[in-house]
Amino acid sequence: MGSLVEELVGALGAGKVSTETALLARYAVDQAPVLDFQLPEAVVFAGSVAEVQAVVRLCAAHSVAVVARGAGTGVSGGAHASRNCVVLSLERMNRILDLNPDDETAVVEPGVVNAALNEAAAEHGLMYAPDPASFRSSTIGGNVATNAGGLRCAKYGVTRDSVLALDVVLADGSLIHTGHQTFKGVAGYDLTGLFVGSEGTLGIVVGATVRLKYLPREVHTIAAFYPDFRQAAAGVLAVGRARVQPAIMELLDGGTLAQLDELHGSDLSARGRSLLLIQTDGFGAAAEADVVRSVLAAGGATVTTEATAEAEQLVELRRNSRGVEVDDQYRVGEDVAVPRSRLVDYVSALEDLAAEHSVNLKVVAHAGDGNLHPTFWIDRQDSAVDEGAMDRLNLALDASIDAALEMGGTITGEHGIGQYKLRWLGLEQPEPVRELQRRIKELFDPAGILNPGKAI
Ligand SMILES: Cc1cc2nc3c(=O)[nH]c(=O)nc-3n(C[C@H](O)[C@H](O)[C@H](O)COP(=O)(O)OP(=O)(O)OC[C@H]3O[C@@H](n4cnc5c(N)ncnc54)[C@H](O)[C@@H]3O)c2cc1C
Repeated sequence: MGSLVEELVGALGAGKVSTETALLARYAVDQAPVLDFQLPEAVVFAGSVAEVQAVVRLCAAHSVAVVARGAGTGVSGGAHASRNCVVLSLERMNRILDLNPDDETAVVEPGVVNAALNEAAAEHGLMYAPDPASFRSSTIGGNVATNAGGLRCAKYGVTRDSVLALDVVLADGSLIHTGHQTFKGVAGYDLTGLFVGSEGTLGIVVGATVRLKYLPREVHTIAAFYPDFRQAAAGVLAVGRARVQPAIMELLDGGTLAQLDELHGSDLSARGRSLLLIQTDGFGAAAEADVVRSVLAAGGATVTTEATAEAEQLVELRRNSRGVEVDDQYRVGEDVAVPRSRLVDYVSALEDLAAEHSVNLKVVAHAGDGNLHPTFWIDRQDSAVDEGAMDRLNLALDASIDAALEMGGTITGEHGIGQYKLRWLGLEQPEPVRELQRRIKELFDPAGILNPGKAI
């Protein structure tokens, strides 16, 4: 291994290659539970496309795996180090290369942070729409590789809907450009779409051309508090039936409100057992907000017209609702999506499962997309006296996955399979589909060096 590190240093310079143990440990994991901790042989900070190519070529020559890494905010273990690997950090490739206000496109390096692109776009009255709650730290490369969703996706679509073209370094170190600069373009197979969401297993994204949308001039936020969670979920359907398209439609249950109150000193749980947070935007925002308010009030909600500052604060609290209140050891969480028509059924199923397995539940949902993040958890104190608690958590979790699939849902709405969710993939995808995916992987990466053991 010594020689690979020496060759990497030779190609990139010592300042871009680290074998320092503390740094290796930090870059060995993302935010997901760790099933099989592995230290990478080195962490390499590429500064250019040519350097990425050099790293991939050297790793290929030494049969060492390459784990691409953006900001490491992933929650599925996609960026966890695997055995005998180099972690290739793209974070230093963080330049916005072009932003064309007339074409309404931007060309970025992979390490550009989502919020930085949005700041630059805002100067032209534009925005990059996909906004994972991690937008202040996650990178466009990571967003592309996970096909990230977010709050605004209810109206503006997920990452795939905003990516026009990609520059990708393949497993042999060659560079390809896929897609087109134009909004339309249907030449050949959609390789851009294939790379989006491929979690670093088919190639390293070294550039992305993305479509920008208009920054709404007007935004209205509606907070609807409900006496229970199921009624709030029903509110989501009622808004849809009124044929109004909110930009954001987020659902928070009582457990989440209590947790936010504890962390931030807010008084949300005093106002209801569940919160539906809706934003309308654009020129029709006020009129749409009026319709939403009356629909929700008719469904039993206490609807507030938030002052701007308070509304922003509520959205901000929602973005921070992936809390750290209990040690990871004592909570398990997921990222399922169900057809919206099954939202109320699914919320009921989750509550029943929590009761059946005697565990606590909290749920936040990008409800406009039927995408739920349920967390089953137990107090640390409980687990000290209750040996079976982890088993109960995992039983509840597995049953919540089964329930989502039975309702026509998916095991991951936006976080990706990574390493953590591989155990459930066979429940969703039949063997012929999985085999086809293995063959695609083989075509792109015959030696299996790109993020092995992830995604498929
Ligand atoms: C607080 C918090 C809130 C979150 N909210 C959301 C949310 O609302 N919606 C959502 O979808 N996700 C959310 N996430 C998950 C995470 O932020 C996203 O998956 C994000 O897209 C990961 O970006 P990253 O730069 O951190 O990538 P990383 O975590 O570093 O990597 C993610 C995956 O992409 C691969 N990868 C990274 N860069 C490249 C590249 N250049 N080329 C090829 N492969 C690459 C990695 O190998 C890995 O498989 C949240 C996470 C946190 C911690």
